[in-house]
Amino acid sequence: MARSIVIDVYECNGCGSCEEICPEAFVMDDGEKAALVDSEAEVTDKVEEAAAYCPQKCIFFE
Ligand code: SF4
Repeated sequence: MARSIVIDVYECNGCGSCEEICPEAFVMDDGEKAALVDSEAEVTDKVEEAAAYCPQKCIFFE
């Protein structure tokens, strides 16, 4: 089964790094917290890169 992308918005500090690295999947919601462009988005290499660079380590997959 495909993995889905999860953002722990309580941990997100709004740095914007995920959107910068992978705007196809991440968008800053009201400029404060990261959100998914599409909740069904696939886990691509770019998505994994964004997760790896997230300073809060609050992007994960399940
Ligand atoms: S990289 Fe992590 S902390 Fe920064 S906006 Fe994205 S989810 Fe939030």
